Amino acid sequence: MRIVVTGGAGFLGSHLCDKLLEEGHQVICIDNLITGSVSNIEHHDSNENFKFIKQDVTEFLYISGPVDYVFHFASPASPIDYLKFPIPTLKVGALGTHKTLGLAKDKKASFLLASTSEVYGDPLVNPQPESYWGNVNPIGPRGVYDEAKRFAEALTMAYHRYHGVNTHIVRIFNTYGPRMRKQDGRAVPNFINQALKGEGITVYGDGLQTRSFCFISDLIDGIYRLATSNINTPVNIGNPQEVTIKQCAETIIKLTGSRSRITYHDLPVDDPKVRRPDITVAQEELGWEPRVLFEEGLKKTIEWFKKS
Ligand code: UDP
Repeated sequence: MRIVVTGGAGFLGSHLCDKLLEEGHQVICIDNLITGSVSNIEHHDSNENFKFIKQDVTEFLYISGPVDYVFHFASPASPIDYLKFPIPTLKVGALGTHKTLGLAKDKKASFLLASTSEVYGDPLVNPQPESYWGNVNPIGPRGVYDEAKRFAEALTMAYHRYHGVNTHIVRIFNTYGPRMRKQDGRAVPNFINQALKGEGITVYGDGLQTRSFCFISDLIDGIYRLATSNINTPVNIGNPQEVTIKQCAETIIKLTGSRSRITYHDLPVDDPKVRRPDITVAQEELGWEPRVLFEEGLKKTIEWFKKS
């Protein structure tokens, strides 16, 4: 297949490009590089099945020739990035989703939207099944990401229902692994970076808020299965192993053998108190579940951070 991946130079997008190339597809990667990096894709420089276009996907997308699949992964995805780029975040979720769905419709291609557990906001239900509608503050600092993704889901379902586009929506829960940026701002890369440098580990709030971290290879496997399935409604992909942020910090201190200590800081506004995916749909419909244990994935990520 000839496949377009937006955000293909980002953390998730670049691992997706690797997988698609491994499966024998041709990949056209589009990225404006505001949070992505060419270092994530330069290993494909001499691969004739890979093409990179530097473009903002909120602008008109012109791709010559056939396209069989569009994966829309472009978006800032770290809380510090959507605070830094609030309007580009809203635009890529709204206008970028419109452009990429338009491309899929025009080319009669299938489409997969990278959505997020943030559509559940600060959830009042734990774990979160796909049927939960969420608890989102539309005007808070995280609203630019959460509402853009909620709009993107609505638009994707409208293109499916009204235009008959074969669409898929993955709700991605916290994911970690090699290629996360050192200055990414999210908990796992921050803590690893701080632990390796012997700096204080910056836990926000009391650290009792929970997250469920999925290793990148498991996530990509789940996304690939969804992309080739006939499920058009949203599917959670994430690891249901729930940990507190304090436990996450302590595990990283242990695995790095660091002398760093935890330091406590203010909790960001609207920071979700709990998050854990209900993955029954993925298990039953896709035969998918994560395989990499948290400590195992962290060891691989720590090795990568040491080398880079
Ligand atoms: N967090 C933290 N210290 C950091 C970065 C994040 O305590 O240096 C907390 C953050 O407040 C949140 C959790 O870790 O409760 C996960 O944050 P992250 O930015 O990784 O992703 P989120 O799940 O909030 O999108």
